[in-house]
Amino acid sequence: AHLDRIAAVDGTLNAFLATDAEISLAAARDIDARRASGESLGELAGVPLAIKDVLVTTDMPATSGSKILEGYRSPFDATAVARARAAGLIPIGKTNMDEFAMGSSTENSAYGPTLNPWKLDRVPGGSGGGSAVAVSAFEAPLALGSDTGGSIRQPAALTGTVGMKPTYGGVSRYGAIALASSLDQIGPCARTVLDTALLHDAISGHDRHDSTSLDFAWPSMAGAARSGADPATLAGLRVGVVKQLMIDGVQSGVQARFEQALDLLTAQGAEIVEIDAPHFEYAVAAYYLILPAEASSNLAKYDSVRFGLRVTPQGGATVEGVMSETRAAGFGAEVKRRIILGTYALSAGYYDAYYGSAQQVRTLIQRDFAAAFDQVDVIASPTAPTTAWALGAHSGDPMRDYLNDATTIPANLAGIPGISLPIGTASEDGLPVGLQLMAPAFEDARLYRAGSAIE
Ligand code: GLN
Repeated sequence: AHLDRIAAVDGTLNAFLATDAEISLAAARDIDARRASGESLGELAGVPLAIKDVLVTTDMPATSGSKILEGYRSPFDATAVARARAAGLIPIGKTNMDEFAMGSSTENSAYGPTLNPWKLDRVPGGSGGGSAVAVSAFEAPLALGSDTGGSIRQPAALTGTVGMKPTYGGVSRYGAIALASSLDQIGPCARTVLDTALLHDAISGHDRHDSTSLDFAWPSMAGAARSGADPATLAGLRVGVVKQLMIDGVQSGVQARFEQALDLLTAQGAEIVEIDAPHFEYAVAAYYLILPAEASSNLAKYDSVRFGLRVTPQGGATVEGVMSETRAAGFGAEVKRRIILGTYALSAGYYDAYYGSAQQVRTLIQRDFAAAFDQVDVIASPTAPTTAWALGAHSGDPMRDYLNDATTIPANLAGIPGISLPIGTASEDGLPVGLQLMAPAFEDARLYRAGSAIE
C-alpha cells in the first residue's frame, strides 16, 4: 500500500530519491513468513520505514543529497538502519534532503526540491524535508532523520508531524554521512508521539562503532509515551519559556498557537516559568562558525578518489586538477559557501578568534541551559518562528534560512534532546505549527511523556 502511495504522489512531492519495490517486498514477505512460522516479532515488525539519504545502507544508494556521491554504494548498513531491520522494520526508500544536510528547506538538494503536501508551492523545511513529507503524505508511517541544527524538528513542524532529536550520543552516528560531528544526531519522525517513541527505542543504544555513543540504560521511550495518557502527567510540570527564544519575527499565527499550547499546559496543571538565557542570542552565530568548520573538515574526504563522482579535466589530468574539477562540479553553492567559511575559520591565525570563540559561546549556552533546568523540567518554544514559506522565497539570501534555525540550534549546541509536536495550524495561512519541548541530557523519556500528554 505504501509503495502504491509513493507511486501515486511522489512524482509531485519528490520526497524519495530511491525506492526498490523488489527489495522492500522481499523483506516484507520474510517478516510474513517468520510470523507464520510462529516466531514472536516486535511491535514494529513489518512496518515500512523511510530513511534519510544521509544514512548508508547496503541495498540502496546514499547520496546525502549531493552530486558528488552519485553512484556510491555502501558496503555496510548504518547502525540505526541495522537496528531497524533487526526490529523487523522494512526499509522502503531513501529520502530527499538538503545537500549534506545543509539547509532549512530541502531546496539545496542536488536532486530538486521536495514539496510540502499541505500546499505544493511551499517548502517542507529541511534538511530532512523528504523524511517529514514521506510521513506527512502517508508515503511511510515512520522515517529516520538527522538533526545537526534542527533538521528533524523543523521539517516536522512545517509538515505537521512529530520529530525527535535525541540526546547527543543516544543513537549511533555510525553510517551517517557526517556534517558536523559534535552536533549531528540521528533520530525518528512519525505521525504520533507513540510511533516516534517506538522507532526511537528500536534504533537507540550503545554502539562500539561510534566513540561518542552513550553507554546508558535508557528507559523505554514507548513506555514513557504510553504513560503520558495518565491525565495527571502534566500536573506540577514546570515549563520554561525562554525570553530569548521568543525572537522578533515570530509569525502571529505561530505565536497564537504557541500561547494556546501554554494555556493547555496550564489548564492541565503545569506551571509556566519565564527563563532568561542571555547567551541564546549568540547561538546562530556560534553555530554558523562551528558547523562550517567541522563540515569543511568532514567534506575533505570527497577527493574524487574514494567516493562517487570523478571529473577529469580536459587536456591532461593532474591529481590536483581532478580533485578540484570534481569538487567544483560535485558540490552545490551552499556546500561551497560553508567549506570556504569553515576553512577560513580554522586557518592558522584565525582559529582562536573564530572557532575558539564560538566554542566558548557554546559553553556559555550550555551553562544557560543548566541554570534553566535548575528551575524547570522542560523548556518550550515554537519549533520554528514561521510556517512553511514559498519555494524560492529565501533564494539568494542564506541568512534568512540561518535565522529560521534560532529556536532549534541551542539544543544541538548543548547536546540535549528536543521534540517537535504538531499544535494545529496558523490562522493566516492554514499551515502547520510546531511546539518544541527540550529537556536535560538523558531525559528523552520526559519529552515523550509530556508530548503524548498534550498530543
Ligand atoms: N538548517 C540547519 C543548517 O543548515 C540545520 C541542518 C541540520 O540539522 N542538518 O545547518
